Amino acid sequence: MNPLQQLAQSFRQPGLELFAACAGKSQGQIKAMGIPAKNAGEIFRAAQAFNTPTRSRDRQRQAIQSARDNGLTWVELVEIDKYARKLKDEAKAWRLRLKLCRVSGGLAAIRKAAQGLLKTLKPKPKPEPEVKMEQPQDGLWKLSVRADSSMLAAIATKLAKAKDKVAAFAEILEQGAPQPTLYTHVVITAEDIQAIEADQGEDVLLRMTDGAVITGAELARRKLAEMGFVTIVSNFGGPVNTYRLQRSASGKQRLAASVVNTTCVVDTCNKPAEQCEMHHMQAWSEGGETNLSNLVPLCPFHNGRNDDNPHRPNHGRVERVKGKARWVPAWSQGVVF
Ligand SMILES: [Zn+2]
Repeated sequence: MNPLQQLAQSFRQPGLELFAACAGKSQGQIKAMGIPAKNAGEIFRAAQAFNTPTRSRDRQRQAIQSARDNGLTWVELVEIDKYARKLKDEAKAWRLRLKLCRVSGGLAAIRKAAQGLLKTLKPKPKPEPEVKMEQPQDGLWKLSVRADSSMLAAIATKLAKAKDKVAAFAEILEQGAPQPTLYTHVVITAEDIQAIEADQGEDVLLRMTDGAVITGAELARRKLAEMGFVTIVSNFGGPVNTYRLQRSASGKQRLAASVVNTTCVVDTCNKPAEQCEMHHMQAWSEGGETNLSNLVPLCPFHNGRNDDNPHRPNHGRVERVKGKARWVPAWSQGVVF
């Protein structure tokens, strides 16, 4: 065997056998045997993980079994361990080691799988409020602001309605942020009012129809005139019907419908009601009434996807399920997500 073949063979050493040989040895001892410091550290840490009892006993045992079945080399196991160490949560780290020990296809396949899995296992850091300014040479600068929804909601509503958003933003810079529109509603239930009155308003979160969320205490501090209207909704009373008078939802019905649903009714969609269209759950052409029980806010995207004809399912449609308007995907066979 020539020196190159010897070197190649050393990289192919089965990882578990190497780790077994490391048992009881310190990092310094491994290094003292002539292994470069960086490798000695990585091997020592990976060997410790696989040799030392852990609370994730089952996953550790299965990972070891998979590494053996899969014939993983020490290079591959060290790489797996390096990815697992990016997770502070021990249980999650072992979940990752186990999954990666089952990957076949060598180092490249392990790395690819690890990057995908880490995205799902690593908790996303909570974003902090910030203002960012990019100033490239071309003269088109970029300003981005991350701030409390109640600070930005009125601006968002104004920009959403504007055709030329940059011009609308320039107007905001000149004239100051717009006051919340007059028809912005805040939804309060009877119990929440009691909590606010009892000075426990900090715990009560109220959602407004422009998408902002404020606490009950904040509401008590603000002047109602600046807020627009406050609507009190009983937990038990359903929406009141006002019967068909016209095709388009009247301002009052629009208001009331957005009080019942402050955002697009699709569960995963947060588009504020003020930026939504009033959707007839039972289509006007199918005899649907323009009344409260038939109207829900739906953002332009989801309104576009809604199947108006229930007999020709394509994407899905909004229906009332157990009293609540919900998006029912096409072909769901009664399963509601
Ligand atoms: Zn939507």
